[in-house]
Amino acid sequence: MQFKTIIEPFRIKTVERIRLTTPEQREEYLQHAHFNPFLLHSDQVIIDLLTDSGTSAMSSAQWAGIMRGDESYAGASSWLRMEKAVQDLTGCPYILPTHQGRAAEHLLYTRIGGAGKVFISNTHFDTTRANIEFSGATAIDCPIPENSDPALLHPFKGNLDTAKLLENIEKYGPENVAAVVLTVTNNSGGGQPVSMENARQVSEICKKYGIRFILDACRIAENAWFVKHREPGFEHTTYREIAQQMFGLADGCIMSAKKDALVNMGGFLALRDLDLAVQCRTVLIITEGYSTYGGLSGRDMEAIAIGLEEVFEPDYLHYRIKSTEYLAENLHALGIPIMRPAGGHAVYIDARAFYPDIPLDQYPGQVMVCELYRLAGIRCCEIGSVMFGKYDASGQLIPATMDLVRLAIPRRVYTQSHIDYVIETFEELRKHRAKASGFRITYEPPFLRHFTAHFATI
Ligand SMILES: *Cc1c(COP(=O)(O)O)cnc(C)c1O
Repeated sequence: MQFKTIIEPFRIKTVERIRLTTPEQREEYLQHAHFNPFLLHSDQVIIDLLTDSGTSAMSSAQWAGIMRGDESYAGASSWLRMEKAVQDLTGCPYILPTHQGRAAEHLLYTRIGGAGKVFISNTHFDTTRANIEFSGATAIDCPIPENSDPALLHPFKGNLDTAKLLENIEKYGPENVAAVVLTVTNNSGGGQPVSMENARQVSEICKKYGIRFILDACRIAENAWFVKHREPGFEHTTYREIAQQMFGLADGCIMSAKKDALVNMGGFLALRDLDLAVQCRTVLIITEGYSTYGGLSGRDMEAIAIGLEEVFEPDYLHYRIKSTEYLAENLHALGIPIMRPAGGHAVYIDARAFYPDIPLDQYPGQVMVCELYRLAGIRCCEIGSVMFGKYDASGQLIPATMDLVRLAIPRRVYTQSHIDYVIETFEELRKHRAKASGFRITYEPPFLRHFTAHFATI
């Protein structure tokens, strides 16, 4: 028989205490944090859904690997293990270890970017965009139009719009397109998957015009689950083989190991082009560390090698995707406007639809994030006009296309009862909806303002 209940396919060996707080305490903590949950202390949080990045619980096998970690400066056995794991998975010969994904982005995008260059993506993740813009280049997002309708069901809502890709190649000239970056799954665009067909088309277009094709592969295993279950022709292909096929279409990839490598720190850049790899490696040694450890300890590299195997275990991936779907479908049943279908690592709520009376320049997404914390100590992240908003010449906010709130689910950390508590919080949130008021920004830095901005209630 097929059980309805999908159990966590692991048992708990070590526990970490959650400190429970009162509503009065939370109000005080929130004011101290200037209404920006990034500025809260973690012991002020009950359920932390801020990010799935670096928050995974490692397995007993990974912890055993930590003890085996070889801390030799050059040629450590842990590095050779990680290098082989990444080569086998990506098919790329040149692997550069970095302390996290953005360091890999910085190495690559400052080499190939610069003034006058453009990058085209399904959606650039925030650190990706920041690294590209920091180099002086322009980052252009071309998701398929279905992506911006949160309620519209589509099996591969993370796809890149190939017609818009072609238009932009024409407009800027292929010689000025530094790279096409396909983000799988599409994190900022709702954690939505990209089909193999779409990746293949993008790859063909890039080949035709001689443009570099880079995969931002942070959640490649989760993406493989969707390909196997939604795209005809992959029923009998393993998750790992699906990922390998997708890597095979690209000229290289960057990966934050803090996502689908199931570790707390790490990343890498993988390339097929020796010349480019040598250029990046030179900067790696100046800024990150020697080429056989980057910014990583031997033990980190050991855990990455093991995590990259574990993440493709069918029972794990099935539990992972189904538990995200469980949260999404329960919120949908409550009438909460969410992005559907559920993404792989997170549920995205359409805060603009939930708070129709809060003007966009009062940041409805930030309002929801703060209300969830007040009510239940849940911490999550705005992905909307705080993160992506710009100002026009007169200082008016140009809002983002959507104002989403992301509930990101750490891997192997929370159980179903934690998720049920989150669902119950949304029943309360609905009741308090009319009382919520907007925010204005009182402090912001020039880049990545959502991490450190301060807010005040209006
Ligand atoms: C997390 C992430 C990055 C950056 O990786 P870090 O390890 O956080 O530096 C880049 N792209 C995507 C899609 C991500 O999710």
